[in-house]
Amino acid sequence: MTKQTATIQCEQCGHDSARIRRVPQTLGKGEDLIVVENVPLVACRNCGESYFTADTLHHLEHIRSTRETSTSPRQIPVANFEALVPAL
Ligand SMILES: [Zn+2]
Repeated sequence: MTKQTATIQCEQCGHDSARIRRVPQTLGKGEDLIVVENVPLVACRNCGESYFTADTLHHLEHIRSTRETSTSPRQIPVANFEALVPAL
């Protein structure tokens, strides 16, 4: 059993059939839009729910609030959640 096939308990239905998927997530809009890559999304095969944990949302908000403010509107800053939040 490798880490890739391990399942975790789903917060929605309680079944041990959820997996972590690393997905890009956009935050804000327009000139404030940023993209965060490798955000851990919990996807449950039992109830079909896909969601971010409260802890992940907290980190996303922190990433958003600390983004570069001098970025050109034509460029999209990209943050790597996995690199910024090694604890997860
Ligand atoms: Zn579930």
